[in-house]
Amino acid sequence: MSYPNNKETPKKNQLGNQNIIYIIILILVCFICGASIEMSIHKTSIHQETKIYLLPVGDIDEETLETLKSRLAETFHRNVEIHDGMNIPKKAYNPQRKQYLSSHILDELHNLVSSSEKEKYLAITGVDLYVPQLNFVFGEAELGGQFAIISLARLHQSFYGFPDDRALFLERTVKEAVHELGHALGLRHCPNPECVMHFSNSLVDTDRKKAVFCSSCLKLFEKHKEHR
Ligand SMILES: [Zn+2]
Ligand SMILES: [Zn+2]
Repeated sequence: MSYPNNKETPKKNQLGNQNIIYIIILILVCFICGASIEMSIHKTSIHQETKIYLLPVGDIDEETLETLKSRLAETFHRNVEIHDGMNIPKKAYNPQRKQYLSSHILDELHNLVSSSEKEKYLAITGVDLYVPQLNFVFGEAELGGQFAIISLARLHQSFYGFPDDRALFLERTVKEAVHELGHALGLRHCPNPECVMHFSNSLVDTDRKKAVFCSSCLKLFEKHKEHR
């Protein structure tokens, strides 16, 4: 079974001036899962009392939200709550790519909620996300920031023409959610292919890794926590 990877360059005619501006903004601000560029690390902001909000962008089913709620609470030892949702921003849609620009949705989230440093927001959407230099992204996060987003679109077996597998879908969703929140909590990509913070270039990587931090990432996570 093979899954597409997100490192392939989009077709040349899809790259315009607007996209170049987005690339520059992303280099400065965000940590993109799938990008090969490394961005400067912000001051790590892991707080003992950090609350995590799940924020549906468009319709997200109850089982997925409840699964995320309990698994993320277990992993991060934080309160996890389901926030009111928002509509999928129409402006984020790129008709040529038939995908949504994830950075644009993150911008909309900044406008929607006034977040304190102690709150992390994980947006969850069913639509397929992209950033200009990649074919797609499973998610995007602000490193050490307040906001992260994951897309469920490519986590379904049916996306690739295979019969759906609900348990596999939910496990992939948890992995991507932990990964992006890990970034929002200040963790970077990990070289250990079994660690949840390992970069997923395709679903093969997602399926290989576990939904938890490796011992090094866990130490880093705990160390940051002690210092706050
Ligand atoms: Zn990542
Ligand atoms: Zn690790």
